[in-house]
Amino acid sequence: MAINRRNFLKAATGSALTAIVAEEAQAFSPRETKELPPKAVGMLYDSTLCIGCKACVAACKQANDQPLEILESQQGWNEGAWDSAIDISAKTLNVIKAYTNGEMTQKDREVDGYAFMKRHCLHCVDPSCVSVCPVSAMQKDPITGVVTHNPDACIGCRYCVVGCPFSVPQFDYETPFPQIHKCQFCSHLQAQGKLPACCDVCPTGASLFGDVRELKEEAKRRLGAEEGEVYEFPRGKLGGDRDSHTAQIPKYQKDFYGDTELGGTQVMYLSGVPFDKLGLPTNVPDKSYASISEGIQHTLYKGMIAPLTLLSGLLFMAYRNRKHHDDDEQSPKEDL
Ligand code: SF4
Ligand code: SF4
Ligand code: SF4
Repeated sequence: MAINRRNFLKAATGSALTAIVAEEAQAFSPRETKELPPKAVGMLYDSTLCIGCKACVAACKQANDQPLEILESQQGWNEGAWDSAIDISAKTLNVIKAYTNGEMTQKDREVDGYAFMKRHCLHCVDPSCVSVCPVSAMQKDPITGVVTHNPDACIGCRYCVVGCPFSVPQFDYETPFPQIHKCQFCSHLQAQGKLPACCDVCPTGASLFGDVRELKEEAKRRLGAEEGEVYEFPRGKLGGDRDSHTAQIPKYQKDFYGDTELGGTQVMYLSGVPFDKLGLPTNVPDKSYASISEGIQHTLYKGMIAPLTLLSGLLFMAYRNRKHHDDDEQSPKEDL
């Protein structure tokens, strides 16, 4: 049989390969979602305690040597007076955003109300950014679980930007040697025995640092308390020696966010409004995306499907190029 494109493609992607795909697809199973590290540290952000003062945003900038960000609309007016980032970016690792509805008269209410949301890396238990990074520039500490980015190892492929379900890693397009930027949980401060800057300055305890397992217990205590009950909200670090912030238990959503979502996160949230109103993805699986995608990858490579497909493509391109070359030299009579 003379080789032509139809026959070649049949051979390359035909029945044998189809059979492998079907067999391996049946065998596909995601790997287990990774467990919380033994001494996992994290943060409980209680949106109902947040007063939107943005002390955490300023402290984050100072602690991490990040420049101010001035909105274009504010430039030229009182220039430089306001750091006015509207979202996290290469210059802003942490931002306070607001949910608003209707008259916006009542805090922490979904209708005619408003609520604050603190946005930065959630330090996922089984992070996609680590899973997709081809050069291990994204790392998860096996003891504390803090997810850090190493700019020296990073090749700027931006897989982490696409892979993160919370749209956290930010690529700096404005510099000659662009880099990824994200919250590193103030690892440099933690190494000195200090608190992450945002938790250190928060006046109400809305951003609370601590052991993740203990923070989960604290979240459950608040959810289990009676609405209106006077409560001593810890500030700075859970179990630390700071004075607490005394306030009444608000009407919370019935659960906290980050316990199971996408395999769990080490930054967790309490809120008076539904979590999707704060921009958090809901209706997500308990399994991490990393466990699912690595399962597929493993299956594809185990069955040699991906390499076979790649090889087929390369062979076809080589054959096509050779054919064009031959056609240029001889008269084009072969049936394609
Ligand atoms: S929130 Fe995004 S950047 Fe942060 S650990 Fe999770 S996947 Fe990585
Ligand atoms: S932990 Fe540090 S880097 Fe992360 S948001 Fe808070 S202050 Fe910024
Ligand atoms: S410092 Fe605390 S209260 Fe102020 S905006 Fe940040 S999280 Fe909210």
